[in-house]
Amino acid sequence: MVERIDPERIFGFDSEADRNRFVEQDYLIRSGMCPNGHGLLAETDYGQRCEQCGFFTNTRAEGRRDA
Ligand SMILES: [Zn+2]
Repeated sequence: MVERIDPERIFGFDSEADRNRFVEQDYLIRSGMCPNGHGLLAETDYGQRCEQCGFFTNTRAEGRRDA
């Protein structure tokens, strides 16, 4: 079960909107979803990648170990 980061624990953003956007993107990435709205990310050697927009991250999805 992936959970969102507590926004209270995140620093260094200029506005609450930026911080909330980061929390949402982080949540999607850790859920294995493209933060740009393209659905599931493909797993790669280094992390995950979106086949559609080329977004990539070295953050792996959580909760796939049981799959
Ligand atoms: Zn994408």
